[in-house]
Order: sequence, then structure tokens, then C-alpha cells
Amino acid sequence: MIKYQLLCESDHEFEGWFRDSADFDDQSAGGLLECPLCGTTDVRKAVMAPAIAKRRSGSSSATKSAFLKEMAEAAGRARKYVESNFDYVGDKFPEEARKIHYGETDARGIYGEATGREVKDLVDEGVSVAPLPGATSKDKAGAPRSATDSAKTTVDKPSAAKKLN
Ligand SMILES: [Zn+2]
Repeated sequence: MIKYQLLCESDHEFEGWFRDSADFDDQSAGGLLECPLCGTTDVRKAVMAPAIAKRRSGSSSATKSAFLKEMAEAAGRARKYVESNFDYVGDKFPEEARKIHYGETDARGIYGEATGREVKDLVDEGVSVAPLPGATSKDKAGAPRSATDSAKTTVDKPSAAKKLN
């Protein structure tokens, strides 16, 4: 028998006994390993010293989902920052982004709405436009969200407009 220190997706630690390492793999693959604290079957072996290297490899789905969650949270914060610090210009975004780019108006952070086509045209003209991060699935309607860095411009879809109206 081998005793493994196990870790679930919520980082609950517990111990499990296995015939051998293949037994662990079988039970893990079969969803037979369950966290005694939260009941999830997303359980992996806790690696002691090299845990950090292991986590960064993104090899386990738990690590990956935790990573994606972190990314989403970071994106959400970036989006919040844009929404509270940038001017919302709605569908005038391409026009305003150009004005800023060509120095026809004060350089400032803006965000608004643009179609994929409009964004592509802006990029072709050298206007730096970046997607506004932190889009949630419920408020995405297909068109990209963007922000420029030099002009600090952002494109968004109607959900952001609703929030601000
Ligand atoms: Zn758990």
C-alpha cells in the first residue's frame, strides 16, 4: 500500500491509501476519488516541494481551471478600471479613436462599441486598439471589446452601455 497526500480542486488536503501508483491513476480517472470535505472528484496528488513548478505546468485540469479563474478575475479588474476611468463613447468609438490617434481631440481613455470590421480598420490604420478584457459570456454578442493603449481606447458591446446609461 502507498499513502498519498491528496489535494482537491479547492486545495483541501487529505490522505488516501492505494495499492500502487497505478491504483491511484485508475481511481482518479474513474472519478472514484472524492474530497471528504467538499465531495469533488477533482482530486490530485499533492506534490510537496516541487508544487509550484507542477502548478505552472498547467497539466491538471484543476490547475488549469484555477489559472483561468485567476485570469478572469484579473481581466474583470482591468475591465472595471477601464469602465471607471475611461470615457464611454458608445458606437462613436471608431470615430473618437481616430480623432485621438490623429491628435484632433484630447488624448484620453475612451471605450465604446465597435464591430470586428471597424476594429480591423482601426488596426490597419495603426490605431492601437485592444479588447476590453473581462467580458462575461452573458454579455458578449459576438463583436470584440477593445481598448487602445496609446489612446487608451476601448471597444465594447451594448451591455457596457446599459450599465452606464
Ligand atoms: Zn475539497
